Amino acid sequence: MGAEQARIEVLSEHVRNQVAAGEVVERPASVVKELVENALDAGASHIEVGLEEGGIRLVRVTDNGCGMGRLDVERSFLPHATSKLREPEDLEHISSLGFRGEALASIGSIARAQIISRLRDAELGWRVEDEGGRITELVEAGCPAGTTVEVRDLFYNTPARRRFLKRASTEFARCLDVVQRLALAHEGVGFVMTHDGKRVLDVEPEMDLAARVRRAFGAELADALVPVEASHAGARIRLSGYVAPPRFSRRDTARQMWFLNGRYLRDKVLSRCLREGYRGFLIEGRQPTAFLHLHLDPSTVDVNVSPTKAEVRFREQRQLFGFCVNALRESVAKTDIATPGESMVRSMERRVIREDPNQARFLEPGVLRPASPVTAREVSGDDYQPAPRPLAAPIIRAEEGEVESGAVMGEVGDDLRGPFLQVARTYLVRALPDGFEIIDQHALHERITLEDLRAEVLKGRPEVQRLLVPELVEVSRAELERMRPRLAEFAELGIELEPFGEATVAVHGLPSRLKKPNAGGLVRDLISLLEEKGETPKLDELVEEVLHRCACRSSVMAGDALSEIEIRALLERGQALESDQTCPHARPTRVRFHLEDLEKAFHRR
Ligand code: ADP
Ligand code: MG
Repeated sequence: MGAEQARIEVLSEHVRNQVAAGEVVERPASVVKELVENALDAGASHIEVGLEEGGIRLVRVTDNGCGMGRLDVERSFLPHATSKLREPEDLEHISSLGFRGEALASIGSIARAQIISRLRDAELGWRVEDEGGRITELVEAGCPAGTTVEVRDLFYNTPARRRFLKRASTEFARCLDVVQRLALAHEGVGFVMTHDGKRVLDVEPEMDLAARVRRAFGAELADALVPVEASHAGARIRLSGYVAPPRFSRRDTARQMWFLNGRYLRDKVLSRCLREGYRGFLIEGRQPTAFLHLHLDPSTVDVNVSPTKAEVRFREQRQLFGFCVNALRESVAKTDIATPGESMVRSMERRVIREDPNQARFLEPGVLRPASPVTAREVSGDDYQPAPRPLAAPIIRAEEGEVESGAVMGEVGDDLRGPFLQVARTYLVRALPDGFEIIDQHALHERITLEDLRAEVLKGRPEVQRLLVPELVEVSRAELERMRPRLAEFAELGIELEPFGEATVAVHGLPSRLKKPNAGGLVRDLISLLEEKGETPKLDELVEEVLHRCACRSSVMAGDALSEIEIRALLERGQALESDQTCPHARPTRVRFHLEDLEKAFHRR
């Protein structure tokens, strides 16, 4: 036997860095996160992120922060080199985003990286490169105050890891997600992000959280947000931010953002708080949309749990949980839950009725109902999406009574010839000479019904359909008393009601224009209207509001299958109106796509 050979070796620094890089840097988005966090730690008020090919080819982050002097630039790529931590005790109260001193060394070991930096009051800056772990000599460089870090060709020297990267568009989406989260977390800091030369995000420093949400995710969401503001234990715990109505929920948690003392994180406890907060408002499996800042005494959380610091440990978890859930529930209940949820339930109910042959008498006579079987699964899902069903050609032209087969896209003028496509029994898709439009059939029908009713009321008393058997609606005594003095006015609008006993209203007649009127719902609407408006709403106000509600209660709801002829009739009536662009609740009735939009979407431009 020769001399004993050791099998255990202490790894070289280079190998150590690559191993560490495996924990910190998974994909371009991790590089983006580390670099932007460094810029934030440097006190920058403006940060620019430039990407090429989803960040695989290049990630460049430029900041106007404190910058680095010669010695710091020289050390910045060294492992475990940090300016943010000195003593073990510092770990107890960390307020910077970084502190492990691993990011730059890790990134340099698996890419071609360089740092250029200048202190604010220095004349010149310094540049250093790290190519796959080989750190170059320092050179002087002319540059603006602040720091630019460039990372090219990620994983060029670790092909096995490079193969795990997804398409550039996917990697880009993850990078965007990271920057959006950081931009939402850091009010006071401006962000500009470009991808392959195109500007994809632009947030000014003075924008607050709501304005940032609007910039990142659009006005529809921003307008629907409800604030959260609560504190606990003598303000030692503070929760603030916004929750969105349940209809903005998604399958994933991409629109769920928690910021703990300004640091964005994904944490199971906090996600659970949100789920609890929305309990009863959301169907299982859906993730609410919310943007929340939690402020805690830093000594009550441990952020040093994982290298990416996305998880934390709370010391007083149960107390925290109870406080958050209560605060969230209060705000969630204030979001606009009723309208979409209610219409969804109603359309589901109708689908069930249609399925049950014994209930067939509820169907309107004379309306074509294509036989589309409804399965149990379909009616139970919250985002029930039946396959698009092209409506059957041939098309009968009303004027000439002639039959022709489906018109060809592109030739169609605005003469409502079709072909039409009904999607999910809710949206009508129609070709236009310069694109196509999607119409929300319920919203459009509501608008039409309202306009027709208003025209009738202006002319005099609307035609009334008397009910053979009055429909009895139970109300409270107080509600009945509130309605009593108004009954004559309602009658003028074609709504014939009569007190019946002490706590019941009998509905004798409704405007004949209303299709499928729902008398009970309408009476309850009238009551809540009187409550909202106080004791003496003005007559014209009342007219407008009642008409709105009548229109809503009777319109073609989302979920009704329509025949080609019904669709054309609906569109024709819409065209005859002055404004058919929004429903009475100011939701749009139609969305138009121009050829330009399509060309952009398919990168033809
Ligand atoms: P950490 O952020 O954990 O300290 P990093 O490897 O990310 O470790 O960075 C190492 C050090 O380089 C930081 O502590 C900081 O002093 C310096 N540094 C990195 N990026 C910047 C920047 N954009 N501006 C100023 N200093 C920076
Ligand atoms: Mg860092």
